[in-house]
Amino acid sequence: MKTLRLILGDQLIYKHSWFKQKNNHVTYFIIELKQESEYVTHHIQKIIGFFASMFNFVNYLKKNGHKVIYIKINDSENKATLADNLKYQIEKNQFQKFEYLLPDEYRLDEQLKKISNSLNIQSEVFDTEHFFTSRNELNDFFKNKKTYLLENFYRHLRKKFNVLMQGDEPIGNQWNFDSSNRNAYKGKDIIPEPFSFNHDYTSILNEIKKSGIKFIGEVNEKNFIWPTSRKQSIQLMHYFNQHLLPLFGKYQDAMHTDYWSLFHSRLSFAMNIKMISPKEVIESAIIEWQKRKDEIGIEQIEGYVRQILGWREYMRGIYWAKMPEYATLNYFQNKLKLPKWFWTGETKMNCMKHAINQSLEYAYAHHIQRLMVTGNFALLSGIDPDEVDKWYLGIYIDAIEWVEITNTRGMSQFADGGIVGSKPYVSSANYIDKMSNYCKNCYYDKSTKTNENACPFNSLYWLFYETHREKLSRNPRIGMMYKVLDKFTSADKEAIFNKAINYINSIENL
Ligand SMILES: Cc1cc2nc3c(=O)[nH]c(=O)nc-3n(C[C@H](O)[C@H](O)[C@H](O)COP(=O)(O)OP(=O)(O)OC[C@H]3O[C@@H](n4cnc5c(N)ncnc54)[C@H](O)[C@@H]3O)c2cc1C
Ligand code: SF4
Repeated sequence: MKTLRLILGDQLIYKHSWFKQKNNHVTYFIIELKQESEYVTHHIQKIIGFFASMFNFVNYLKKNGHKVIYIKINDSENKATLADNLKYQIEKNQFQKFEYLLPDEYRLDEQLKKISNSLNIQSEVFDTEHFFTSRNELNDFFKNKKTYLLENFYRHLRKKFNVLMQGDEPIGNQWNFDSSNRNAYKGKDIIPEPFSFNHDYTSILNEIKKSGIKFIGEVNEKNFIWPTSRKQSIQLMHYFNQHLLPLFGKYQDAMHTDYWSLFHSRLSFAMNIKMISPKEVIESAIIEWQKRKDEIGIEQIEGYVRQILGWREYMRGIYWAKMPEYATLNYFQNKLKLPKWFWTGETKMNCMKHAINQSLEYAYAHHIQRLMVTGNFALLSGIDPDEVDKWYLGIYIDAIEWVEITNTRGMSQFADGGIVGSKPYVSSANYIDKMSNYCKNCYYDKSTKTNENACPFNSLYWLFYETHREKLSRNPRIGMMYKVLDKFTSADKEAIFNKAINYINSIENL
């Protein structure tokens, strides 16, 4: 049967069983869509990264003898929407069957179901074979439970897939080494250079400009640094295993003005568009650890496995358990607009300036910068989670809704009221100062709450707790904070809250 198989931009699954055999009746369809490039304003490196990776994937398919229809953004045959494009190709080429892979985004899942129903040919959907767990596995696992604890799901997956296990027990006799993974970087260990590629993608940038797609951020198009093929993704993975894994866990939460990726893998983009699988990333790291146990502690490898087998699968499960309602949750009813400097980095707050500028420069910030700097500020100031989501979904090269929204709306903004996190991730300057060198050269004073140039985080932090007392004070993980707050004198409280309100009122000038 003459079949058209759709491959979306985040489904570049070189090892998928679809591609094991050549089949003359099957044509693959890959298309650069305006619809996908404009549903939020994306970072230019993200758009180039997708288009270049799709181009390389098409070449791989063709080289391996597969038939491909590849429509680029400015091709005259490129119709306005995915539906129009599919209908056009199916009619033009007289396809008798339509097949696609399960999309990871709710929006596309719904759209493709609708398109399939509207076609007058048969259609079938296949698994991407990418994740450890199925879409509904987390929902089934937590059935009838009130809370969705990551730790329980993670342990279940460690056992199920026999990862870092010795029989029924975790290797190292502990499931979690988080307490050994909270070091600040003080310059003692040498940080290897971020491994980069030097692609010249001037032509892709020109095509994007010609198409009129709006974008944010910067790019050195002659030296594009991200992997755009499976081969390069594997190179980046090996570089991480060899040079960064030994200290990954130790400095997982550290932030520093001189280093934008420290010991992080930067593999999220390659994994999220599925050029490499989480299984091979974990397996290769474990092999490296087994070879170099003298150098690589169990806490380093466990910290890494937890992020991928734990958090990544967990977030995907939450997404499918809670969408589409999840995208509307706003537990604190926050309404403030994101200040304009989120798009320029022009703020006097050194931590925010660094986290935002590096995001604009590299389309990347590591987890703690996203959570405890930009996310922390947005939550403390009361920014609308819709605005926060749009920013995160646009600016990061690895941002795809299933993993962006659960991290942003859930973990970082607590807009889900505690599905992902058992308490809001907020802090004053204290934590930022402990984990970074940002505060040293800041215009604001990290150690005061109410002085003229007091750090905004310090007063916003207490106003946050005061404002949400009703929703948070009974939370056993937070009760302590209210005991501290209630010991402040009324005059102190008034001064702190006034300071915070002033900062919020002049948020554009911070
Ligand atoms: C507000 C906010 C928004 C985020 N948005 C995204 C996003 O859009 N896309 C995305 O992939 N990650 C997102 N994350 C999670 C995390 O920040 C990134 O996965 C990580 O920074 C990617 O860099 P890395 O590959 O160097 O990660 P490493 O630190 O090297 O970690 C290894 C891998 O673990 C996985 N991982 C780590 N933490 C998480 C997590 N919390 N959830 C899911 N997977 C995780 C990633 O696949 C990552 O590549 C977000 C976190 C926050 C707090
Ligand atoms: S003093 Fe405050 S604003 Fe400045 S870097 Fe530290 S935490 Fe950020």
